[in-house]
Amino acid sequence: MAFDYPQSPHHRRHAPAGYRNYQSYKPWLRDEFTFRCVYCLCRERWFPDGDAAFGTDHLQPQAAAPDLQTQYDNLVYACCQCNSIKGDSEVPNPCQHAFGKHVNILNDGTAQPCSSMGTELAEICRLNRPRLVAFRRGMIELLGLLGRRQSEQARKLLQTYLGYPPSLPNLSELRPPSNDNPEGVRRSYYAQRQRGELPETY
Ligand SMILES: [Zn+2]
Repeated sequence: MAFDYPQSPHHRRHAPAGYRNYQSYKPWLRDEFTFRCVYCLCRERWFPDGDAAFGTDHLQPQAAAPDLQTQYDNLVYACCQCNSIKGDSEVPNPCQHAFGKHVNILNDGTAQPCSSMGTELAEICRLNRPRLVAFRRGMIELLGLLGRRQSEQARKLLQTYLGYPPSLPNLSELRPPSNDNPEGVRRSYYAQRQRGELPETY
């Protein structure tokens, strides 16, 4: 489950605009893409430094489309490794394409493309880099083992690995110059936690 790519294109819940600096969108993107890298699906909670291991990635690279540098629709959340590997390549847009229709993750940790777009995505982001494959395989084994155990300790560990990060961004405190979808703030994970509606895992 943790490595299943979405079966439908991502529908953005937020629409902040007007920041001069693209890094200012990071808290919005953390919430937007559920605290995980859109390319490799690794989650903040799997990194010792949490969101410090993630950044704001440009779908259309800054060099090719400087006018889109601070456009929210051109930004996604990605781990620093995927971000650095893809460099200035243009990647398929997860808001237009369901990655789950193009790439499957097998139980041995390998990424198996099932379309030409999947092959392109796997190549650009090097989704089969050996250390990532080994990490995935280990996580799949660990999560499978914990899922089969019916104990409080296993439940807590699953919550650690598959739960939301402890520090969720409070988007209602942010003041972007404009926001075309203020309703999204009410649906943010911070707001859900405040209302006691946040699931234990995702
Ligand atoms: Zn990644």
